[in-house]
Amino acid sequence: MAIEAVLVDLDETLYQAGDAIIRTVDRRITAFIAQHTGMPWRSADRLRVELWAEFGTTARGLNYLFDISERDVNRFAVDAVDPTRHVKPDPALAHHLGRIPTPLYVFTNATRRYAERVLETLGVRRHFRRIFAIEFSLYNPKPSPIYYERVARELALPPQCIALVDDTPPNLEPGLAMGMRCVCVGDRGSVAPGVTRVPSFAAVPDALGF
Ligand SMILES: [Mg+2]
Repeated sequence: MAIEAVLVDLDETLYQAGDAIIRTVDRRITAFIAQHTGMPWRSADRLRVELWAEFGTTARGLNYLFDISERDVNRFAVDAVDPTRHVKPDPALAHHLGRIPTPLYVFTNATRRYAERVLETLGVRRHFRRIFAIEFSLYNPKPSPIYYERVARELALPPQCIALVDDTPPNLEPGLAMGMRCVCVGDRGSVAPGVTRVPSFAAVPDALGF
C-alpha cells in the first residue's frame, strides 16, 4: 500500500532539542512537583524521573498520583519555555521535508503551543498539514496505543498507509503493531525487526521510498 501520510515526532527527530531546553523543562517540572507536594527538591526530581519512566510523561504520572491536571503541569513546565532562544532556522531540514510529497503531520508528546513555536523557529511550519500534540491524545502520550489509534482514525487512513518517524524506539512499537511503516532516526536503543533505522532526518525521504 502506498504511503498517504507521514507522522513525524518533534524533539530529537526534527531537531536536537539540546540539553538547554530539556534541562529547563525538567527543572520546571521538578519545581512544579516540589511546589505541589512540598517535597524537597531532590525527592521531587527523583519522582519526576520515575514518573516519566513509568507513565510516558511526568504529567500523566502526576495526574495518576495526585489528580493534578496534566494541562496545568504542561502550562507551567512546557509552555513557559521559550524554544526560540535555543532553536535556529534549519533550511536543510526544510529541503528534506520538501522531498516528501505526501502530507506530513507532527506527532508529539509536547504541547501544541510548544510544537508551533519550534516549527515556526525552524522555518518548517508550512511543511506540516497539522500538528498532533499531547492535547489531541487526551493526555495518553506515546507509546500509548490510544494516541496512535486516535490519529489514524482522524486521518481516516488504514495504518498500512501511514509512516511513522521517531527517535525513541518504544514509540515506534505501537505503530509497527498496527501495521504502520516505521523509521527510527538516530541510534538510541534497539529497534524491532521491521523498523528502518536512519542516522538523521536527511535519510528519511529515501527510507520511505520518495
Ligand atoms: Mg523524540
